[in-house]
Amino acid sequence: MPRPTAVSSALFERARAVTPGGVNSPVRAFNAVGGTPRFIRSAAGAWLTDADGNEYVDLVCSWGPMLLGHAHPEVQARVAEAVARGTSYGAPTEPEVELAEEIVSRAPVERVRFVSSGTEATMSAIRLARGFTGRDVVVKFAGCYHGHVDSLLASAGSGLATFAVPGTPGVPASSTELTVVLPYNDRAAVEKVFAEHPDRIACLITEAAPGNMGVVPPEPGFNAFLAESCRAHGALFVSDEVMTGFRASKHGQWGLDGAVEGWRPDLMTFGKVMGGGFPAAAFGGRADVMSRLSPEGPVYQAGTLSGNPIATTAGLTTLRLATDEVYAHIGAAADTIKVAASDALTRAGVPHVVQSTGTMFSVFLTADVGERVRDFADASTTDQAAYAAFFHAMLDAGVYLPPSAYEAWFLSSAHDDRAVSTVLDALPAAARAAAAARG
Ligand SMILES: *Cc1c(COP(=O)(O)O)cnc(C)c1O
Repeated sequence: MPRPTAVSSALFERARAVTPGGVNSPVRAFNAVGGTPRFIRSAAGAWLTDADGNEYVDLVCSWGPMLLGHAHPEVQARVAEAVARGTSYGAPTEPEVELAEEIVSRAPVERVRFVSSGTEATMSAIRLARGFTGRDVVVKFAGCYHGHVDSLLASAGSGLATFAVPGTPGVPASSTELTVVLPYNDRAAVEKVFAEHPDRIACLITEAAPGNMGVVPPEPGFNAFLAESCRAHGALFVSDEVMTGFRASKHGQWGLDGAVEGWRPDLMTFGKVMGGGFPAAAFGGRADVMSRLSPEGPVYQAGTLSGNPIATTAGLTTLRLATDEVYAHIGAAADTIKVAASDALTRAGVPHVVQSTGTMFSVFLTADVGERVRDFADASTTDQAAYAAFFHAMLDAGVYLPPSAYEAWFLSSAHDDRAVSTVLDALPAAARAAAAARG
């Protein structure tokens, strides 16, 4: 049964009059699935309540950050205490030191610098990589999202290893002419780009496990191969763990491959979970590289609200509470939902592929890729009409999925039996709706 949306609809009308598309980040507008975006009034644990009073199990979790669920009592208490001490000083504070120590203890980085968004983190990491190496070219993969940095909003040019073209109006060609975009999981393409530009590549940046085209895990050894290729050619390997960091596992995606195989990125970026629901992000890495950053070194970077005491308190409290048990719980809930989603889709006759890395997973409604989705071209075969029908059937049954077919489904430690069974109960009818809508 469709749920009431009168209040959300009215808010959306007002929002559209004062904000482009009525939202402050495009995917929130439901453009990919149609219908009225729900304005959220409050959230607790695994549940969202919208402005019309509808409740939903949240499988977006603010696009990753809410690892402990919404309004976690201890995070709220620490944040309230921090707010009472003042909200920003523009001078260093103890929570920044503690959060940096926590990150250094979990991820293979020796130094970190805080910023306010993942976009800022990748932008700064690339500047630092260029400043450190004295080179200009940046290599990235199609389908990997690193925030809305000009040089990274790029599409592949006409051939492999040629320079990219702007991915959106407003990015000048001069911003992408030093970017090369390659197909993900493609070793030959990586070898070719290093062969063609042996002394020009400052860094290769990749999502540690892409989540922004849906979850497309690196093939076994692929990240190790990237790290080694960079090392062999004097380029830096920048692993973007804004999504996977402290989410895919306690040690992020690196905990699932680098820690096992014995390699480290030169630079990493973090965001989402480490901000505990506040605008905090970071980049970090090798001490010799990070020491090139101002004020220690010459590469300029700064931020008025960087390391904000409220945001760092929320992030620190979240990470301290993100124990092995939290990851085990999320992993088990994810497994239950993955299996049930796949069963329901199979029974309804909807071709699909479920992929995961650590506790993160996605469901691709595609008939065209065989056993797995390997890169952006594969991900693009998703049946968007089928997903839209699936999404709305789930929403009507009280489950808030990502309003886009190319996203991970996020869970939290607050997703208990009641939340998970609400999802399981909703799946069969949603799968039938997807079957009926298949294009
Ligand atoms: C979300 C994300 C970003 C951008 O972070 P913002 O805080 O939205 O700027 C960068 N990289 C990856 C991998 C992300 O998932």
